[in-house]
Amino acid sequence: MIRAALGLTAGLALGAALAAWISAGQVAGPALAIVQPGEFVGRTAPFVATAETPGADFLTLTAHIEQDGTVYPLFSLDDPAGAALEQETDDRLRIARTFDRETHPDLTEGPARIVVAATRPVLFGLRESGSETAVDVTIRLTPPRLTPLSTLHYVTHGGSELVVYRVTPADAASGVRVGDVEYPGYPADGAGIDGRDDLRIALFALLHDQDLGTPIELYARDRAGNDATAGFAHRIFERRFRRSRIPLSDGFLRRVVPGIVAQSPELAGEHADDSTPADELLQIYLLINGQLRESNRAAIRALAADTAPRQLWSGPFRQLANSQVESGFADHRTYLYDGNEVDQQVHLGFDLASTANAPVRAANAGTVVFTEYLGIFGRCVVIDHGMGLQSLYAHLSSVDVAPGMPVERDQQIGLSGQTGLAGGDHLHFAMLLQGRPVTPMEWWDEHWIEDRVLRKLREVASAPAPR
Ligand SMILES: [Zn+2]
Repeated sequence: MIRAALGLTAGLALGAALAAWISAGQVAGPALAIVQPGEFVGRTAPFVATAETPGADFLTLTAHIEQDGTVYPLFSLDDPAGAALEQETDDRLRIARTFDRETHPDLTEGPARIVVAATRPVLFGLRESGSETAVDVTIRLTPPRLTPLSTLHYVTHGGSELVVYRVTPADAASGVRVGDVEYPGYPADGAGIDGRDDLRIALFALLHDQDLGTPIELYARDRAGNDATAGFAHRIFERRFRRSRIPLSDGFLRRVVPGIVAQSPELAGEHADDSTPADELLQIYLLINGQLRESNRAAIRALAADTAPRQLWSGPFRQLANSQVESGFADHRTYLYDGNEVDQQVHLGFDLASTANAPVRAANAGTVVFTEYLGIFGRCVVIDHGMGLQSLYAHLSSVDVAPGMPVERDQQIGLSGQTGLAGGDHLHFAMLLQGRPVTPMEWWDEHWIEDRVLRKLREVASAPAPR
């Protein structure tokens, strides 16, 4: 009787153990994720993966890349192979390393597979549970190729220029780098040159505040992260920027400061009205001329993202009709109050004065991308002309257009005024390249457009395509 009971108990225990054994085999293995690389692997590639299991208690954790049946290790717990192993949470490990031609000389161009595998103990270490994840990648070892095609590149300080070049592979991101500023190239069919997938057109500038010796070169980066650069012949010309001294009167401060404060969220902590003492007005004015100006310029720069990849303009840009130039591009202004220097700024547009409430027309064809009140610019319109080129119209008293509207050259977009930081009714006009001000003088000049832009496009369009 007793023996039978014992036998039964032993049988039950064995059954329970067997059930535990079986269910332990069905417990999920560690959660694995390959964060990098993505689809493409370049000459130098990042490898980042995470592995998660309770207590980060792994029996094994390995990663490798396999190609044509050969396995090349990337990592294992026993041999981290120079990888950084970081415990991100109580349960999760993060593995990060780079691999390249030196660490993996036998990898060749073409498809490969990255595999991460791990096991963890279950049932008090009596059994283990494993999992595996993998990504298919394409290895690219040939860096992009860049060939400049256009000739005679003349860049004047603060001005624009255009280069036509060839880049392969066609899906590489490319453009012109001037110091630390990048100007993307756009497919040439956007400028009417068809049937040449590898042709790119890039407008670029040497900005007014960049040194005359700033390096200028073509750059390309393919989807595998392979980089290339190429120089192209260019000449730099100096331009003299004017200096001016601007006295600030109490009347001017009283007229402009309250309006800008009321309409600029950046100045929410400030208050200005008719009873604000003059010295307080001056302090707020200095905030407007400094911090708000910077913030407004950043908002303008962000509009570059809205540019079309096509040339929307044709022919020279138009200057405000019957207007007088009051202030030029990149004038260095010193501001005086009571005879003392209180501020210095650079004026990055042209001030054009006509009659009050004069019709303001689109300088060239394009698409309206901005029509809001913007701090120092007051009521402001920005028109996109494509391929990174935009024009800006500030201090308007009224606006006739809305974002998304196509406009023709000379189409009326509003009326001039003195909203924002304006000493009187005038149009502040600026040309922007990738959101950064460049001198409009060139874009107003028919000969400059012919020599710098249209000639190069024609020469490339008529050249035979490479074999
Ligand atoms: Zn201005």
